[in-house]
Amino acid sequence: MAFQAHHQHFLLVPFMSQSHLIPFTHLAKLLASNGVSVTIVLTPLNAAKFNTLIDQAKALKLKIQFHVLPFPSAEAGLPEGCENLDTLPSPQYKHLFFSASNMLKEPLEKWLSELETLPTCMVSDICLPWTTTVASKFKIPRVVFHGISCFALLCSHKIGHSKVHENVTSMSEPFVVPDLPDAIEFTKAQLPGAMSQDSKAWKHAVEQFKAGEHSAAGILVNTFEELEKMYVRGYEKVGRKIWCIGPLSLHDKLFLERAGRDGNETSLDESECLNFLSSNKPCSVIYVCFGSLCRINASQLKEIALGLEASSHPFIWVIGKSDCSQEIEKWLEEENFQERNRRKGVIIRGWAPQVEILSHPSTGGFLSHCGWNSTLEAVSAGIPMITWPMSAEQFINEKLIVQVLKIGVRIGVEAPVDPMETQKALVKKECVKKAVDQLMEQGGDGEQRRNRAREIKEMAQKAVEDGGSSASNCELFIQEIGAVEDGGSSASK
Ligand code: UDP
Repeated sequence: MAFQAHHQHFLLVPFMSQSHLIPFTHLAKLLASNGVSVTIVLTPLNAAKFNTLIDQAKALKLKIQFHVLPFPSAEAGLPEGCENLDTLPSPQYKHLFFSASNMLKEPLEKWLSELETLPTCMVSDICLPWTTTVASKFKIPRVVFHGISCFALLCSHKIGHSKVHENVTSMSEPFVVPDLPDAIEFTKAQLPGAMSQDSKAWKHAVEQFKAGEHSAAGILVNTFEELEKMYVRGYEKVGRKIWCIGPLSLHDKLFLERAGRDGNETSLDESECLNFLSSNKPCSVIYVCFGSLCRINASQLKEIALGLEASSHPFIWVIGKSDCSQEIEKWLEEENFQERNRRKGVIIRGWAPQVEILSHPSTGGFLSHCGWNSTLEAVSAGIPMITWPMSAEQFINEKLIVQVLKIGVRIGVEAPVDPMETQKALVKKECVKKAVDQLMEQGGDGEQRRNRAREIKEMAQKAVEDGGSSASNCELFIQEIGAVEDGGSSASK
């Protein structure tokens, strides 16, 4: 086989959202460390956010470059500067964001048509199904990148295939997903898109994603085989070629270490929060963060605050950018909340250094919305979780965390927040306190969960080391894609 990674040039086309861009940039470093030259398609503001990647690549003599395309915010009816899903003024703008993302097709084609030599492979985001047409027009082998687990992929596939959810009479009646290694139950309300205001548009989008996956040469999944072996095999049996190459955040940690850095470059706020962690006992702090997209109303935030205060554990609580409302700030001030909890807790407004916090020895638990990146980051750090799913495939991830991996405690929500109920708190402070105390319990179930989480962390670390499953899968992927290109149509014009 004429396998020469250094002759390969991979084009990465991510969806412009934090939870897609972060693993894509990690993937770029992983591929480049394996000798591949990598170009990532970005838009101006997103490129600016990830500029340190270029410096890191230069320091390690890795071939990573950006190709920057203007994001058609205005053309799609979005506010100027809205280039990332986490900058939408409200969730109602989501469909416009997808329209703008689809408009990247033409400029990408134009750029490709001007190249002397075409990329040898395209890795495109599952959320950009139009990349199928672009890749086939230029005869570039294409694989899809999935930022979710094989467990979620297989559950969704089995539900879609069997239509078992169509036999229940209400949104809250449970049904068992057929033909899975474990007895996994959901309600209709917990399925991705259940709360979508335009279910027809949602269905259409899912069909397009599926078609994009079907026509790809294979799929890269940000997971590792040891975490969910039976589900990886199960999804392969559906007829997919899969390379499990994660956890990408752990590969990234190794990458930064090789570059002579610890990944702990922090702003003042960040170092304050790491100092707070260092001033606490090992495994004592609960970290609370709901990802880059969740919007949590002020009533709910107050319940979280009071629940954390009532629990017997120190906390770091992230109030996301879009949740920092005047109402919550006024309440925190009137209550003198931060002063009252000066020794007990830290509030971060905006963006927290999540991976650093999770890998700090004082962190002992993670209250999370169960986004897949957050889940994998917790797994990689050996941290048990309190699961509070809110939307997308997060209810599916909760089942994996609590029922299959047994490293989590449920906060107890049964369905996503109704988008019309913007003022109500779904989870009361008593539930927050109870879940935190339960998760952090010394001995008993708490100890068992912690031990399991540590065992899984070991497996994750082995997977990304030389000779580990994910490291080997990445090499295999590069070889196999090289063989597609050598044996199939030449991608050079
Ligand atoms: N994240 C972070 N700091 C924050 C919020 C989020 O570093 O304050 C990162 C987090 O580490 C993860 C990503 O943003 O890599 C969130 O992805 P996830 O899939 O968990 O959730 P989503 O944002 O898609 O809801």
